[in-house]
Amino acid sequence: MIPSTEILIIGGGITGLSIAIELKLRGATPLVLCRNFSEAATHAAAGMIAPQAEALPAGPMLDLCLRSRDLYPDWTSKLEEISGLSVGYWPCGILAPAYETVSNSPPHPLTPSSSPAFWLDKTAINVHQLGLGEDVTGGWWFPEDGQVDNRALARALWAAAEALGIEVREGVTVEFIAQRHGQVSSVRTNSGDFQAQHYVLATGAWSNQLLPVPVYPKKGQMLSLRMPATSDGQSPYSGTLQRVLYGKDIYIVPRRDGRLVIGATSEEVGFTPGNTPAGVQTLLSRAIRLYPALQHYPIEDFWWGYRPATPDEWPILGPSLCDNLTLATGHYRNGILLAPATAGLIADWILHQKSDPLLAHFHASRFFTSQPATASLQTSHKNADSMLTYPTPIQANSALTVQDSALTIAGKTFHSRLMTGTGKYRSIEQMQQSVIASNCQIVTVAVRRVQTKAPGHEGLAEALDWTKIWMLPNTAGCQTAEEAIRVARLGREMAKLLGQEDNNFVKLEVIPDSKYLLPDPIGTLQAAEQLVKEGFAVLPYINADPMLAKRLEEAGCATVMPLGSPIGSGQGITTAANIQIIIENSKVPVVVDAGIGTPSEAAQAMEMGADALLINSAIAMAKHPAAMAKAMGMAAEAGRLAYLAGRMPVKAGASASSPQTGTIAD
Ligand SMILES: Cc1cc2nc3c(=O)[nH]c(=O)nc-3n(C[C@H](O)[C@H](O)[C@H](O)COP(=O)(O)OP(=O)(O)OC[C@H]3O[C@@H](n4cnc5c(N)ncnc54)[C@H](O)[C@@H]3O)c2cc1C
Repeated sequence: MIPSTEILIIGGGITGLSIAIELKLRGATPLVLCRNFSEAATHAAAGMIAPQAEALPAGPMLDLCLRSRDLYPDWTSKLEEISGLSVGYWPCGILAPAYETVSNSPPHPLTPSSSPAFWLDKTAINVHQLGLGEDVTGGWWFPEDGQVDNRALARALWAAAEALGIEVREGVTVEFIAQRHGQVSSVRTNSGDFQAQHYVLATGAWSNQLLPVPVYPKKGQMLSLRMPATSDGQSPYSGTLQRVLYGKDIYIVPRRDGRLVIGATSEEVGFTPGNTPAGVQTLLSRAIRLYPALQHYPIEDFWWGYRPATPDEWPILGPSLCDNLTLATGHYRNGILLAPATAGLIADWILHQKSDPLLAHFHASRFFTSQPATASLQTSHKNADSMLTYPTPIQANSALTVQDSALTIAGKTFHSRLMTGTGKYRSIEQMQQSVIASNCQIVTVAVRRVQTKAPGHEGLAEALDWTKIWMLPNTAGCQTAEEAIRVARLGREMAKLLGQEDNNFVKLEVIPDSKYLLPDPIGTLQAAEQLVKEGFAVLPYINADPMLAKRLEEAGCATVMPLGSPIGSGQGITTAANIQIIIENSKVPVVVDAGIGTPSEAAQAMEMGADALLINSAIAMAKHPAAMAKAMGMAAEAGRLAYLAGRMPVKAGASASSPQTGTIAD
């Protein structure tokens, strides 16, 4: 039995927790799944609330940040009340010192008239803040910016969630998000499957591990010092720094408890952990130039974190390609600031489908020139084999816009829904041309035949560009579960050797019968159970048996691959009725494998709602394999588009194409 909840939030950083609390306060029942609370950027941040110091240009992003800053006082006092913990919110203002020699009247920063900013010349800034570096020539004073102690805030959010009775499950990793008919159907985790009426993706810098959203990590290194206590011992920070200093590529944030937080580097190094000598040296030298006294303060701590960056540095908020999935990610360097506004907008959207006009500027759709179904129509022709001529690509057209999501298997997404193979070709060149012409992204390879260099398989593994094609090692030729398990392990090694370190896919074939080549259901299930335990993403080839498909899905298989008719027979989809039942009941992708002989049969399987196809013989044995590969690729797309478009109802009798009303009567 899958645990079910009303709203499931993936990610328990500031974004996920703030949304959960807002939803709960409005009467909903959220559940938060969080892999690791301590890895969240929420803890690593400096906690500045700095829309003006960040010098954001006028526009929706500045409006959103200012709105969130305005919400901060009430939002934090509500959290303090619920949690009983202080969050260290401090509207201390931010001073942005400059080194350049500027005139007495520098241009005003891009900031709205409602939020004042003051230019301070050298004398004024040194009166305003003692101890600045000699090079400082003046600076901007933003009295309405401020800071929060983000670590205290994180503790308070967690405690508030607990106090409100929100279930927050730490240590639960969502491995993939299963989708069906434009909806999220469930999420697979290391603690089993979860279902909900609605889902929220709030996984910060890790978001594109689950969905193809353009969010990537930008690492920031930080450190903290301890400010000296004053002689009266009353107030550890008084007399030293009393406001945030926001300099060029450096900021210094004094906390009320006497800590001085210094940040931050901005590095595109993926998820590379650790502080580096170069990073720390850069931070310290810039900080000392800005505020020289700190060179004598004791160092307390070093850390790093990953900002969830997007190409335009704006967050991704609101609807996704699935009706019941909302996105709240990509907050980049302003996720602490943006928490209250994000929580309010997302709760409005989920509970009332209320879309604040501001929200539309942050939809994920801004990164797509057209909806995916249209996009795939356009791109499908880009790899056309030069020997052949193809119809002109269909132009992007809003009338063609049908919402679709990419094919996702075991958390990995693919834009092509056609998989091909490497067997039965008359030459390696034909195979290469066909793979390219088909526009497929997954190619299955018989591990045994490649390993034993069976005739026609010499050099085959090296013939494809595995940086572009995802290898699907298969256990063809295995007659028992034991053999298939052994060959699957060899396949994983083969994929690694060819550069696909993280490839754990295996197409499981257990076929004892050499005449009809029908798979053994019991051996397949036994092998699948073992391989799933070993961490494989198992794609089992099966007869079109709905009960077996369900059992394999329950065993943790990544897909099911029912046959349309016996392998290599080209008889088409003779098992259509059973495949239809499998499609209706499956929570994992259904890949129709074997038996398809023509593009019309490929389209038929896709029109039925199959998620993908695997076609080998029909391409390899065609008179012109590359042309057939192209045709199959187009059929897979046409069938998918037709499925999404929805076919007309079948009627018993005729129905005229032209309307009968409004005709001229004589
Ligand atoms: C060095 C640095 C300084 C910063 N300074 C500031 C600042 O001064 N002001 C400001 O406003 N912002 C600042 N930021 C940005 C801010 O920290 C982030 O924008 C914000 O924390 C993003 O919050 P989040 O909840 O979306 O992501 P995170 O805080 O990163 O939380 C994401 C959570 O999702 C979980 N997760 C990920 N994948 C999965 C999965 N598959 N299953 C389950 N859980 C998963 C993670 O374990 C994590 O707990 C800074 C960031 C850094 C790194």
